[in-house]
Formats: sequence, C-alpha cells, structure tokens
Amino acid sequence: MSELRVLFVSPECAPLTKTGGLGDVSAALPAALREAGIDVRVLLPGYPEVMGAVDAGREHARIAVFDPPLQVRLLASSLQSGVPMYVADCPHLFLRPGGPYQDGALRDWPDNAVRFALLAKVAAILSSEETPLDWHPHVVHCNDWPCGLTPAFLRHMSDPAPTVMTIHNLAFQGNFDPAILPQVGLPWSSFTTQGLEFHGRLSFLKAGLYYADEITTVSPTYALETQSEALGFGMDGLLRSRSQFYKGILNGIDENIWNPETDPLIAQCYGAHSIEQKLGNKIALQRRMALPVDSSVPLLGVVGRLTHQKGTDLLIDAADDLLALGVQLALLGRGDSQYERRLQGLAARFPNAISVSFGFEEELAHLIEAGADMFLMPSRFEPCGLNQMYSQRYGTPPVAHATGGLRDSIVDCTPESLAAGTATGFLYGQPGIAGLVDAVRRALSVHRDSSSWLRIQKAGMGRDFGWRGAAQRYEDLYRQVAGVKSQNGEPGAKTG
Ligand code: ADP
Repeated sequence: MSELRVLFVSPECAPLTKTGGLGDVSAALPAALREAGIDVRVLLPGYPEVMGAVDAGREHARIAVFDPPLQVRLLASSLQSGVPMYVADCPHLFLRPGGPYQDGALRDWPDNAVRFALLAKVAAILSSEETPLDWHPHVVHCNDWPCGLTPAFLRHMSDPAPTVMTIHNLAFQGNFDPAILPQVGLPWSSFTTQGLEFHGRLSFLKAGLYYADEITTVSPTYALETQSEALGFGMDGLLRSRSQFYKGILNGIDENIWNPETDPLIAQCYGAHSIEQKLGNKIALQRRMALPVDSSVPLLGVVGRLTHQKGTDLLIDAADDLLALGVQLALLGRGDSQYERRLQGLAARFPNAISVSFGFEEELAHLIEAGADMFLMPSRFEPCGLNQMYSQRYGTPPVAHATGGLRDSIVDCTPESLAAGTATGFLYGQPGIAGLVDAVRRALSVHRDSSSWLRIQKAGMGRDFGWRGAAQRYEDLYRQVAGVKSQNGEPGAKTG
C-alpha cells in the first residue's frame, strides 16, 4: 500500500482565515503533500470566510456531538490549491464576524473552549470508527492548541488513527476552566497532571502533547528551546519526557506567492539578475509611507504582530539609537494597543524617519519585503518565523535575534561566510536593545560596500525555502507513525 491518507486539522488556513504563520502553513503544507502524491484533506471550522468558499449544497453528513448535543453539518469543498477541504459547520459557534479566536476588538471569544473542543471532536470522529465518511485517514495531523483535544478524544474511541501534534507557538496553550469536561464528554479521571491538567486548568495544548503519538514543532532550534525552562512555558518537562517522539521540521514558504519576479502586489518585479529594479519598490514604499523619497537612506522594514514576543518594545526602546545611525523605518503591524500608541508617538516625533501603519495589509507587507533594504526581527523567541525567509527571497537581508527558526534559516554574516558567499543576514545573541542596534550597525557597515551587500542579497535570493523538503519530512513521519510503507517498501524512506 503506498497511498497515504492524512487528515490535516487547523483553526486557520490562508487566504480564507489567517492570523499568522499557522494560516500560511495550513495552506502550503497540504498543497506540497498533495503534490507529493499524498491524499491529504484539510478540516476547518465554518467561519464566514470558509463558508463563503463552500458550495452550500455539498453536505456530506450531519453529526451530533457533546451533551447537550450540538449539531454539525460536515461540508466538503476544496482549497485554492485543489486540496480537498472538509468544513465543520456549526453556525452557532463559528458563523460570526471577527477573527478565528477573537472578536473585532481583539477580545477572546468567551466560548473558545467549546468552539475548539468541537473542532477537535469532529476531527476525532473522522479519524475513528465513528466516521460517517468512506474515507479513513492513516494519520490525523493536529495543529496548535485548538486541535489539541483530538488525541485525547481518540483515546476513548474505537479504531483511532495515529496522531501528530504540531506546536506552532508554545505560548498559546488554550487553558480553560475544566468544568467543560462533562459537556464535551471527557472523563474527570483524565483530569490529572498525567493527562489534561495544567496547573488546575484544562489545557488543550497539553492534551495534545501528552496524548499525541508524535510531536513536531516548526524548527529544530525551537524543538530544543521548548525543552528548556526559559522557553518551555511550563511544558518543558513534558516535552523533555517525550523528547524521543518530538522533533523540529523547519517550515517552508509559498514560493509562488512570495516571488519578487512575479509578485503582483509590489511596485516593480525583479530577480537576482535584475536586482537594480528593487529600487523602484523602495521609492514606492517611501511614497506609500510618506517618508522622504531618498534612495541613499537605508530603509529598515518591519512586519508582524506588535507583541512582547516579537520584541516590539525592544524596537521602540531602540528607536533613538537606530535613528542615530541615519536610517528610515517603515513598520506594518497590529497588536498591543500600548505598543501602537508608543509607535504612533515615535512616528509623530520623527515624521521624516519613522512611518507606521496599523492593520493587516497583505499588499503593504509585500511592498515592505520588496522595498526595504533590511528587515528587522527583534523577536524574543520565534518558533519559525516566515518573514525572514520572505525577506531573503526578496533580497532584503534580515537582521534578527538568533532564536528558533530565525537561527535555523538565516546564515549570519561573518568574514568567513561573506567570503564563502553563504551569508544571508545578520544574527545577534541576546534579545536586547544593544544586540539589535549593534547588529543593525554591522549590517549598515556591510551595506556601504555594495559588492558585499549584493553577495548577501544574492545568496538569500538563491536559497530554497520551498515546502518540498519539509513535506518529505512530514511524509516520512506520517509513514513511520502509521506504519504505512512507501512504494519502495520502506516506511518513510522514499527519497531519504
Ligand atoms: P506569527 O505566526 O508568529 O505571527 P510568522 O512570521 O510565522 O509570525 O508569520 C506571520 C505572517 O503573517 C507572515 O506571512 C506575515 O507577513 C503576516 N503578517 C503579520 N502581520 C501582518 C500585518 N499586519 N499585515 C500583513 N501581514 C502580516
């Protein structure tokens, strides 16, 4: 048997619904797995954007879950990539304006525990004897805390598929009041430290980490960091105890969407052999952000959530020192209101050097990647991070704290790596202001030497950040956990 069937469960999937990297991964990884010949199907909640992409007539089954029962319609459609999609349609829980986890004012939905217990339960049903479908997955792949209860539910069901649980960010754990347990049909006996309990709370993420057959995270360095007290968010002991079932697989990026040669969202397309055209994007970005149009001033770009994790406060505190280096800063993000206020204050103080835009703007994100000279990522921790890979691809070397996926995807510029032509960016060791400013200073000194800079740009643009390698590693893991052999008869050894 060679055809491998995988149910990929996720609370978000771009472009239908995305709050960050998980949305990108949930679109691109299944697409890459399908290209590799795997029968992968994605299960999503029926948010308004998802329902808008489904032909309402395509109902496959009706399922009642929990006590008192909630009715779920299982709909079928497909993603843009052609990957089949199942939708758990429960309007009462999912059909509401706002984000997947929060309302428009960024407040968590008060019923998130039930909402994602339901998603996890539907996934478990589809991966067990109870499925109403004639399609039975060999593996169910669960992503982040919203899917964490699936392996726990499957413990109490017949003919369960093996489970893979992926951590995209250990800081988000889905810890709730355990009073929900009887409603969702999990026994109180499982509410112990050897099970679902995490400091008196019902932890969806812990459930996944405890009960899944295999655990992955999105970079090898983050897999190590999460086993340390400093970045383990209280789960490090559990992860250490399961280390033999835990590994990091670096995310890829969608190289079609993030391709400066064809990107319709940037002002001027360019490639490694026409890199001089990149300048058109810098000018467009300076105009768009109302900064003085000046090709000679180094322009630093930032895109991302404005949070403590992302080091937004460090960036704000470093602003005076950074500006003293004679740069401009273009920032796009949204997040903590205190950071937005402080950034607004900086932009008002330095209108000729700092410009900020608060919102989620796909087009501006692309223009910053293309138009900036360097891309800053002062994250305190970063499970994988995607922007540093986009920026390398766009010839915009990243300056980043050497943590998690940043460390695994950026080759720091040293005299040796520069001479070898492998340097693609600038990494620094401590997540503080001094390290950040120093790394930017280092980058600027290389930037002044245009031939060295070009080497770094081209090395980054030439790297393979596609999903093929990661998809192969996931396939190997699926085959191993499911005991399904590949065509040449070896579990998980199709191409090595
Ligand atoms: P995280 O998932 O921790 O937020 P990642 O770097 O893994 O960070 O992924 C973030 C993704 O979301 C990237 O595709 C990035 O471009 C995008 N993104 C983040 N903030 C914004 C924003 N304000 N506008 C547009 N895109 C954004």
